[in-house]
Amino acid sequence: MSFTLVIHGGAGNITPAIMNKEQENHYTEGLKEALDKGYEILQHGGSSLDAVVAAICVMEDNPIFNAGRGAVFTKKGLNEMDAALMDGSILAAGAVAGVRNIKNPIKLAREVMLHSGHVFLSGSGAGEFALSQGIEMAPDKYFFNQSRYDQWLEIRDTNFTQLDHKGDNLKGETVPNTGHKFGTVGAVACDQFGNIAAGTSTGGMTNKRFGRIGDSPVIGAGTYANNRTCAISCTGHGEPFLRACVAHDISCLIEYKGLSLQEACAVVIKDKLVKMGGEGGLIAVNALGEYDFCFNSAGMYRGMRNSEGKQLVAFYG
Ligand code: ASP
Repeated sequence: MSFTLVIHGGAGNITPAIMNKEQENHYTEGLKEALDKGYEILQHGGSSLDAVVAAICVMEDNPIFNAGRGAVFTKKGLNEMDAALMDGSILAAGAVAGVRNIKNPIKLAREVMLHSGHVFLSGSGAGEFALSQGIEMAPDKYFFNQSRYDQWLEIRDTNFTQLDHKGDNLKGETVPNTGHKFGTVGAVACDQFGNIAAGTSTGGMTNKRFGRIGDSPVIGAGTYANNRTCAISCTGHGEPFLRACVAHDISCLIEYKGLSLQEACAVVIKDKLVKMGGEGGLIAVNALGEYDFCFNSAGMYRGMRNSEGKQLVAFYG
């Protein structure tokens, strides 16, 4: 059976004009490292779930991505992270929201799925569960990053939040592009047994309100997997993605309307979401190993590798 791994490192105003060679190299290396780690697991007969977790951990450990170590700052100057994981073979899911000082939130999401008896834990309850499961913690300084801190300082006294390079307030007004590029991370995979899985991990949006939860950890919005249809991980402005139930909507278009993976992704990202003013994109895979990248923003950090020998890393539209 063929196998496929697809990853993203966030979507937004990513164009050649705002990237220099050094930045391109950092993102290329960061994405390749994650792809290699996850692919190695699939190649040795490992599960899609393990490949997704491994690929995401690599990106959570890399400060260029807005997840784990590189998580952005909230309005209160803290790092609050969201993550979710779903196993498409049995429709099992685990998610955490608003967690602090967790080195790899995706590992905590897996623990929630496997050992909590629940699907979704938040805040201090999730933190207490992490301690009970021996999940690795990290001090505040591990999450400190000067450029990300500066990005927050620029807008902390405003009502703006910021996604990658673009900021929106509730009226949809934008703040100037600061040139910073950070991204939520995600992975979807199909293993040799035709099982698919999806995972997403994020620091959310810069200057987000204390306690704000985005689409990433919400099953059916930013993350979803079902062997019968697809595995999806989204990135973008979380509020419209939540209202559009993006990931599950794509699954429904495949299941009930018979659309192909590509058709279903395009309907939701390039039509429905655009009409709602939602900016961003997603990665998708199905149990045949078919995959798609779909985004309505200028770019999306992304990559894939499959057993047919195909691999790619790309940023721009
Ligand atoms: N979707 C994430 C959120 O709204 C942000 C992102 O994808 O960069 O929290």
